[in-house]
Amino acid sequence: MTNRQAATRDSVHQLFDAVDAISVQGYDEERRVVYWNVGSELLYGYTKEEAIGRKLEELIIPGSMREEIIAAHKEWVDKGVEIPASEIILRDKNDRDVNVFSSHVMFFDASGECEMYCIDIDLADVKKAKAQATLRENLLKAVFSATPDLFFLMSEEGVVINFHAGDSKKLYAMPNNIIGNNLSDLLPDKIKETLSVNTKKAIDYGDVVSFEYDLEFPSGVSYFEARISHLKDNKQILIIVRDITEQHNSAELIRKQAYFDALTSLPNRFLCLDRLSQMIRDMERNSEKFAVLFLDIDDFKKVNDSLGHEVGDKLLIEAANRLNQAVRKSDTVGRLGGDEFIILLRSLTDYAETVTVVENLLKIFREPFGIDGRELVLTISIGIAVYPDNGVSANDLLRNADTAMYQAKASGRNTHSFFTKDMNDMVLRRLEVEDQLHGALERNEFEVFYQPKFDLKNKSIIGAEALLRWHSPKLGNVGPDEFIPIAEHTGLIVPIGKYVVAQSIKFLVEWERVSQRNYTMAVNLSPRQFRDEELIGFVKNSLDSAGVSPERLEFEITEGVLMIGKSYVDDALHRLHDLGVQLSMDDFGTGYSSLSYLRQYSFDILKIDRSFINGITYKSEDRSLVTATIAMAHSLGLCVVAEGVETREQLDLLEELGCDIAQGFYLSKPVRPGELIDFQYTKDQ
Ligand code: C2E
Ligand code: CA
Ligand code: CA
Repeated sequence: MTNRQAATRDSVHQLFDAVDAISVQGYDEERRVVYWNVGSELLYGYTKEEAIGRKLEELIIPGSMREEIIAAHKEWVDKGVEIPASEIILRDKNDRDVNVFSSHVMFFDASGECEMYCIDIDLADVKKAKAQATLRENLLKAVFSATPDLFFLMSEEGVVINFHAGDSKKLYAMPNNIIGNNLSDLLPDKIKETLSVNTKKAIDYGDVVSFEYDLEFPSGVSYFEARISHLKDNKQILIIVRDITEQHNSAELIRKQAYFDALTSLPNRFLCLDRLSQMIRDMERNSEKFAVLFLDIDDFKKVNDSLGHEVGDKLLIEAANRLNQAVRKSDTVGRLGGDEFIILLRSLTDYAETVTVVENLLKIFREPFGIDGRELVLTISIGIAVYPDNGVSANDLLRNADTAMYQAKASGRNTHSFFTKDMNDMVLRRLEVEDQLHGALERNEFEVFYQPKFDLKNKSIIGAEALLRWHSPKLGNVGPDEFIPIAEHTGLIVPIGKYVVAQSIKFLVEWERVSQRNYTMAVNLSPRQFRDEELIGFVKNSLDSAGVSPERLEFEITEGVLMIGKSYVDDALHRLHDLGVQLSMDDFGTGYSSLSYLRQYSFDILKIDRSFINGITYKSEDRSLVTATIAMAHSLGLCVVAEGVETREQLDLLEELGCDIAQGFYLSKPVRPGELIDFQYTKDQ
């Protein structure tokens, strides 16, 4: 490592040693900890002594993310592909989640060695503003405590008596022209003034006075810090000047990484939230209105997937430029991540004014984007929340603008939508459901219903699908379409899902015992459950202890799970398959249905979504799709289930088309366990 590099690192360390509001960690090429500040100790629970020498992935990276992080780090070290700043959930010493905004900087030195620095800001911490302030304060402290490079001894009038320069290249004047001259005469005009003011201060207050300035050298701009002391007894002035160009640049780099989006250079989520909070404080005082705009590019994912990330990145940069040009200087345009942007519109007089700005934003997107010789047309959807009408906290405003954006998407995209009372009710209802969902399992509010599945050839029941029901004493019956997504979002689906598995297996045993026949039990699995490392073990244990053989349990999985494209999903699916349980692709036809998924993941069953079954008797497209799906599934050796069968005609047609299994209200609604057992008896007799 060269000295120059060592100096950079020292100053980086100094800069963060005393910062406890931000965690800064340094890692060598092998991802071993080489630096660990107090903030890291506070955030992650490991002391410096515990952390140094250990590997990043052993300390704070959750198991499921390890491979990905190691690979990303390697890409950076080997190919210079930066790890972008992002919001991420890490782990502390006690295995608790830590939600941080994490930015990264890599220092490479001449010999090719490098160190990565992670700057993690605790998002749970409301002291974000404090962190920012401390960062600035420590920046200064670090600069002040640094070793000076140039010394000037002068009379109280400023005439140089002696000087010392470790490196004469740092001198602005010719070395032989310094002694005997007034220092301020040797410097450019803009610094003269500062120098004399500060010198006077040092003499008047008897304190060390320091200031920073920059000088233009043929090689570029250098930054300096001067500290002035009055040597009263000698009637002399001592000025110590230090070159702080490197600190300046690395601090600038770190500041940029922490607060600005690397791709578009726009303020990032963290800085936007900070500005939003600041705006709220300003407006509170002036009782003014302002608007928070949440923008999302329509169908960006499609562009990205079909034309590649490079084109996607160029589009985002161009979109950022256009947005920036369309607003006033006092407004903020930021990037929240992905294709989501935010705009803060200051001091509005009325709603009409917002509409004008918003329509203009929609308009500037009408002009096609010229990327790599291609003309692409992009549109955006905009959600608007107005302070204070739609919220008085940063979180509420952002959430409500987001909700309004979804409304804009739902009403056809390329449009805007204000947050309304209905949306407010929706958000409140969601919060209420979420609130009641906590502890619902412990309070025994769930019940599993079963909907039988019929074999179309033998005309007999061959199994059932377990469907969860929730009777909340406060909210009444809440449908799974409403509470499952919330349980999913909060992670509550993990214990709830286990409950469904356990109940279903228990009932299967009972059902088979009473009817003396074999059935298969289908259970729905949500995306979030795949991240649960205990899932496979739990399923295996439940089957083993109930003495049920695995192929009699079936998991219904929607394509959405496969679209996540994460390795843990692949892993869990393969392990479930190896366990011997059956895999069923649910809601087939609704997503980006693709044959490759079916082949890749060894599915056994394909469930055609009920929206297609609904139309088969009167819509030729639906009938064609169902016919084609059955043929295709059979050619892949899959069993086909039609769900949502509501009429005799549908049932007959499905039979004719060669569908294997049917399920739906026409045959039976989902029923309580006892009812299903009785149902079986009457049907068979
Ligand atoms: P799904 O997996 O598509 O389940 C089938 C849904 O269709 C059930 O709604 C069922 O009651 C309904 N259904 C059955 N036959 C007919 C019919 O003939 N016509 C019509 N219109 N509907 C019919 P349900 O019980 O409200 O469940 C809704 C969704 O909630 C399920 O959709 C599933 O995605 C989810 N869900 C339910 N229970 C669970 C669970 O235990 N775990 C997970 N992860 N998701 C569940
Ligand atoms: Ca299902
Ligand atoms: Ca379905």
